[in-house]
Amino acid sequence: MYAIGFPGYNQPMDISHILDPLNKAQRAAVAAPSGPSLVLAGAGSGKTRVLTHRIAYLVRGHGISPHMILGTTFTNKAAREMHGRIETLLQAPFHGMWLGTFHGLCHRILRLHPEAAGLPENFEIVDSDDQLRLIRRVLKNLDLDEKDWPPRQMQWMINQHKDASRRSARLPSGHGGIWEKMLHRVYADYEEVCQKSGLVDFAEILLRTLELFQNNQAIRETYQQRFQHILVDEFQDTNTVQYQWLQVLSARHRNLFVVGDDDQSIYGWRGAKVENILSFEKDFPGANVLRLEQNYRSTGTILTAANAVIAHNSGRLGKNLWTKGSEGSPIRLYDAHTEDDEARFVVEQLRSWIRQGHRRDEAAVLYRSNAQSRVFEQELVRQDIPYRVYGGLRFYERAEIKNALAYLRLLSNRDSNHSFERVVNLPARGIGDKTMGIILEHARLKQVSMWQAGAELIAERGISPRALAALSGFQNLIMQMAEDTAGLGLGELTGHVLKQSGLFAHHKNERGELARGRVENLQELVSAAENFVREENETQDDLSAFLDSAALQAGEGQSEEWEDCVQLMSLHSAKGLEFPLVFICGMEEGRFPNQKSLEEGSLEEERRLCYVGMTRAMQQLVMSRARRRWQYGQSHVNPASRFLAEIPGEYVERIRSPGWDGAESGEVLFRGGTPPQTAGFDGIRLGHQVRHRKFGAGTVVGMEGQGIHARVQVHFADAGMKWLICSYANLEPI
Ligand code: ATP
Ligand code: MG
Repeated sequence: MYAIGFPGYNQPMDISHILDPLNKAQRAAVAAPSGPSLVLAGAGSGKTRVLTHRIAYLVRGHGISPHMILGTTFTNKAAREMHGRIETLLQAPFHGMWLGTFHGLCHRILRLHPEAAGLPENFEIVDSDDQLRLIRRVLKNLDLDEKDWPPRQMQWMINQHKDASRRSARLPSGHGGIWEKMLHRVYADYEEVCQKSGLVDFAEILLRTLELFQNNQAIRETYQQRFQHILVDEFQDTNTVQYQWLQVLSARHRNLFVVGDDDQSIYGWRGAKVENILSFEKDFPGANVLRLEQNYRSTGTILTAANAVIAHNSGRLGKNLWTKGSEGSPIRLYDAHTEDDEARFVVEQLRSWIRQGHRRDEAAVLYRSNAQSRVFEQELVRQDIPYRVYGGLRFYERAEIKNALAYLRLLSNRDSNHSFERVVNLPARGIGDKTMGIILEHARLKQVSMWQAGAELIAERGISPRALAALSGFQNLIMQMAEDTAGLGLGELTGHVLKQSGLFAHHKNERGELARGRVENLQELVSAAENFVREENETQDDLSAFLDSAALQAGEGQSEEWEDCVQLMSLHSAKGLEFPLVFICGMEEGRFPNQKSLEEGSLEEERRLCYVGMTRAMQQLVMSRARRRWQYGQSHVNPASRFLAEIPGEYVERIRSPGWDGAESGEVLFRGGTPPQTAGFDGIRLGHQVRHRKFGAGTVVGMEGQGIHARVQVHFADAGMKWLICSYANLEPI
């Protein structure tokens, strides 16, 4: 029994309230004897709950001081929640326990021992953008052209090495060609720059702590001795460095308690190693392996459907998962015409949910790629429903979107200083801080815009010849763009600007999932422009109106975390969470599973992601797909995701968008709620003349859908052929 300096915890107490709310298998896990333990169990079976209760059990039942416990969670939010639950179970506030993410915990250790870790006391953490800037500087010093040596690719490579605990000095040399040797050089120089300036990137935090433990016996032993119990949630997504660190830290007491699910390993692309689960039994001989099989989260229908999908993966460790809960209602599958139709449907469902008295934050909209959030955001703003993009930025706040908008803004207003500043050297074209300083000073002195200052400096030859060439290159580019895009529609114009500015190519050259997300966001912006329908203000041109609407949407800002608002997030961010109502959108081949996985034939991680998504739902799961989607200014027809076909038909209620094959509207969806107002066609007839506020007069040539989904195709004398949603278009019969 331990009681070092923590009176109150050393007296074993009644722990029935800790063990009683658990089933037999969970109780066995919570009260498992000391030594290494692996709890391997499917989604919603209570792994996180077991971890929480075990901590309380150790403290209350065994008198272990919280000071001697270390727990890791996947996010800080999860750590906060777990802390609160433990406090409730302990029936008292508690302090001294280390509970957080790997990054948070390792950072804390480095702050306590900077010198031993070879860092200055005031070392600074750099985020991913800062890291990129540093890499650029390294490339410049080595005289490497960014075109041949894309900085983001270098960044990806460096982080990969660090996640696998490989230092530049320990990389194999000799075999590689010039390219590889140079990569090593960039890595080595980057390490040196960071070391000299006392900078630490995210991957470094982990690696540096591991090395500290490996190299410094005294510190290692202090922590090994202190942390008598180490508990890890989401173990399937630990990377090599994290696992090695856990091994070192637990070497003395061997009380490493990990919970995980091989079917939910979704961060392989970021260096996570699901194999760590397999290695665990080997690395910790005699480990207690426990399984939990009862799911408490989802209805029978949701669970069976999710199990059926994941059963298509091979190489699983295999689990049985069952529930005593009710069958629940079928999974609703909505077959939308387009992404707008999909968003309207989802938001209509949300409204009906809220009208029934549910909280907004009990509903989550999940998607495969962040770019998909845009249409939902637009519809939620339009319908005035508060929402929060969880684990990311709102669409119009994302850096690549702001860059693109800055180019567009310069087309319509050369004197926009913040736009000028933002993109004058993006992609890099050799306009450095010094030149910018001169431009700023000139603008200030002469009281002119930066654009104007640039033009004057060019005329006066007030900057170095190199900077002069770069700056006039930029100004010519903008003027050329304006000329080339004159008279183009907004969608085409945006696409053209993204191409001509080099932004598309810039992000396409980068590597990794994040870079792909940026390209997708840019493509989504083209779709947004394409589908932009202006509001009143006739005095503005289309581009200015579009830019204003984007600025207004960005200006709304995130709702606060505590506010009751609908949760939007990527499937990855949803890991570990649960919601009574879950939507999974964009269930199409090429989107989910994504294109890359199809090309590489590596579908299993995508399928695990689908399993993670489906098992977030407690009462109702709704999945949707759009038959047609705007992608980079073109309409694509997409087949339904194979994952939908993997769900047995008897668990699915198909809802077809009205208009397809004459199918009826999704009335069934509004059982218990108020049916949507039926805007319908409102007096509009095929072949009749109508008037639109912006497009003028035209003839109705096609009609489909009904109620709020009613759409008409109109041939306008001036604006050509358009599809319009009746409930938004305000068409007047003439
Ligand atoms: P995931 O794999 O998604 O991380 P998990 O295995 O960690 O899931 P938990 O989040 O711990 O599962 O539990 C899922 C839900 O079931 C939670 O709402 C939890 O409170 C509830 N739950 C778990 N065990 C029990 C139990 N014995 N009695 C009642 N509810 C339970
Ligand atoms: Mg969990």
